[in-house]
Amino acid sequence: MKTPERQTKIIATIGPATESEEMLESLISEGVDVMRLNMAHASHEWIREITERIRRIGEKVKREPAILMDVKGPEIRTGYLQSPVQLKRGDLIDLVFTAQPEPPRIEKVWQVEVNYDKLHEHLKPGNNVLLDNGLIPLLVVEISPKKIRCRVLQDAELKSRRHVNLPGIKTGLPSITEKDRLDTLVGIECEHDFFALSFTRDADAIDLFKSFLKDNNSNAQVIAKIEDQQGVNNLEEIVTASDGLMIARGDLGIECPFEELPIIQRKAVSICLSRGKPVIVATHLLESMIESPVPTRAEISDVANAINEEADCVMLSGETTTGLYPIECVRMLKRISSRIERELPPVLSESLRLFRPKAKMLRSAALLALRMENAAVLVFTRSGDLAAKLGALRPNGAPLFAFTDIPGLHRRLRLIWGIEPFLMEFSKDPEQTIQEAIKRLIEEERVETGDQIVTVTNVLADGKVVESIQLREVDV
Ligand code: PGA
Ligand code: MN
Repeated sequence: MKTPERQTKIIATIGPATESEEMLESLISEGVDVMRLNMAHASHEWIREITERIRRIGEKVKREPAILMDVKGPEIRTGYLQSPVQLKRGDLIDLVFTAQPEPPRIEKVWQVEVNYDKLHEHLKPGNNVLLDNGLIPLLVVEISPKKIRCRVLQDAELKSRRHVNLPGIKTGLPSITEKDRLDTLVGIECEHDFFALSFTRDADAIDLFKSFLKDNNSNAQVIAKIEDQQGVNNLEEIVTASDGLMIARGDLGIECPFEELPIIQRKAVSICLSRGKPVIVATHLLESMIESPVPTRAEISDVANAINEEADCVMLSGETTTGLYPIECVRMLKRISSRIERELPPVLSESLRLFRPKAKMLRSAALLALRMENAAVLVFTRSGDLAAKLGALRPNGAPLFAFTDIPGLHRRLRLIWGIEPFLMEFSKDPEQTIQEAIKRLIEEERVETGDQIVTVTNVLADGKVVESIQLREVDV
């Protein structure tokens, strides 16, 4: 039996550096599991085109990646600027709510637009406002309904449409904006597999988003992106409400004291593991590879840490949207994960809570596979739950095959640690279904004569359906 090359999954964000047919084909062939489309930058026309292209190439190379649309949620940004502004430490800035394409300097005070007109209700003098991912720190000195006067704390260049962060401050921004709704409708039309909701602050945001999907007949899954202190405070309820979690370290590292970041990451991964929900570690994993063909030693250790923590997925952003070495980044993640996974002990996760009897049987099946030589686990799933639980048990070292007859689910299962998904028609006779699955595994050279397959499945006994754990030896 071939042991899996790696069990940690890879998400790549698609952008100018990777949108061509050739690049997409290379990414898919290299093993990218999920393609992320970021709505901060994408037009609807581009979404339709790129979705069609990804799907077509996935079918061609017989490895269909899932597609994740990242909706922006309640994000505050500065306005459009025709040209950058050079700010000096000590300068005064008025944050205003009307467009200022060329920020005038009225009586030596810069006028800079922000897209949230209730900002003044949530700030007090003495608060900090951070522009451009924390690069431009401002101190609030005076507030009125029309403007927020701030002092610049560091020399910096302000460019067009920069992020605004308000560390530790609760805003009244809606969880889902009008733009999010319009974007999501396009994602639904394109049958995207996942939607990631940026700045998820509580379970209500997820519930609201899920009901929007349901109202529009979508069964896509919803990933909560935690990006601020409120999201961290409500972590448990957010994980419960969502289908998965993304630890969005970019904004999180600005919104929370950054020394908290490793603690938040570890806690978030472990909560997800105990609930059997997939978890993604995102942002800055190989940041230096945007410009360099090799990562820093610190980045290698950071990726290794995510793998040691047993996150389901690691994610690339700028590295694959505009970076010079997108394919090398994917190879780098594979290289690090396959090596680090070999160091993980071959034991099951202790923390996963399993409720259904069939899911409990899964634990025994996975344990059996780990205790045997050359053994894989095989499950059949219609809801995806059994495969999700199998992955969440983290049977390190054993191949995990999940067969489904639900189109789309075979893509969604790519997000889960260790799971190798297959789409296949199921027969009424469970025995026939097992035979067909094993045949497919042989055809695709996943198993060979002498390999053992542990399967949790229905059997008919005296006309009744009973659950069973079976051991099948492959005989080609
Ligand atoms: P973004 O989120 O790339 O959509 O901003 C990721 C992060 O903040 O880490
Ligand atoms: Mn973010």
